[in-house]
Amino acid sequence: MAGKNKKQTTDNGLAAGPAVAVGGPDDKNELLNIKGLVIKFHTDDGIVSAVNGLDLKLNAGETLGLVGETGAGKTTTALAIMGLIDSPPGRIHDGGIVYKGRDLLEIKEEEYLKIRGKEISMIFQDPMTALNPVMTVVDQIAEVIENHQGVDGREAEKRATEMLKIVRIPPERAHEYPHQFSGGMKQRVVIAIALACNPSLLIADEPTTALDVTIQAQVLEMMKDLRKEFNTSMIMITHDFGIVAETCDRVAIMYAGEIMESGTLRDIFKDARHPYTIGLFGAIPNLEVETEYLYQIEGLMPDPMELPTGCPFSPRCAYAEELCRKEGPGKTVLPGEDHIVKCHIHAGALETKEIRRDMGI
Ligand code: SF4
Repeated sequence: MAGKNKKQTTDNGLAAGPAVAVGGPDDKNELLNIKGLVIKFHTDDGIVSAVNGLDLKLNAGETLGLVGETGAGKTTTALAIMGLIDSPPGRIHDGGIVYKGRDLLEIKEEEYLKIRGKEISMIFQDPMTALNPVMTVVDQIAEVIENHQGVDGREAEKRATEMLKIVRIPPERAHEYPHQFSGGMKQRVVIAIALACNPSLLIADEPTTALDVTIQAQVLEMMKDLRKEFNTSMIMITHDFGIVAETCDRVAIMYAGEIMESGTLRDIFKDARHPYTIGLFGAIPNLEVETEYLYQIEGLMPDPMELPTGCPFSPRCAYAEELCRKEGPGKTVLPGEDHIVKCHIHAGALETKEIRRDMGI
């Protein structure tokens, strides 16, 4: 509802205003600041544009939900933060990943080895493939502790057993192998490995997708408790708004390698402005409304080898006009300074001033 905005700034040249990275205004508290990140994969079939000028900011102690459809570039972004983009075929073409004031793209691999797993950890989507099948679970946790905390094997094992207790796995099962554990317990072991060195930043890449629903709830609850206990900042990658509502302070909506909208949990859940975000909420079935068909956003995410010119959402957007197909929108900062949207409507450049919200939002 652009018409309601009292103050807006854009960086697309359509109106004056500063470029603002996605995130809160408290820079003293800033833990991670990704600026203009561009990642492409150079394959035999062509160039895959996976991340296209992504800005993302995370303050200390915060949980940010990174939401988007499969193929939006969420995992590629996470792997870039971890310094795990395989090159070739991946190549970071532009941008910076500033963590605690240092650009991770500028540091050497030896330095990264000290950060990865200690300062920044990641929980991967599928616990079935994240663990080593021929090592006991306690040894897998102890290995990380030994590598990063400079303690001997016995002390590392003691601490690893403590970690197992923290993730509610009885110590008597410490010397068992992953195949002896259920999916939920395996994911607890993965979480124990990720938290073993008390990282400042935890990236959870759809940590409950591979689990059944009741186990999902338990694992999420445990993650929330541990995040508080360990005072860890977190990026929660998901396509599930329920998980975001349960765990996150702020939300960034990703589409075709860009952040389309970001803001506080309230901004996104109660006052979404981007046609894509509104469409995503509209696609959540409403149990109180009787309907023959569920709403869906028409079309598919664009092929990252052939991204459209202009706004990447334009082929699917009901509000797209000529300008959208020619020129990508810049960022518009909505009142409150923490709610940012990339859309020509909110920059005041289109005839349309209001987006319909009768899709269940
Ligand atoms: Fe739709 Fe245009 Fe806004 Fe893109 S810029 S979301 S195409 S209205």
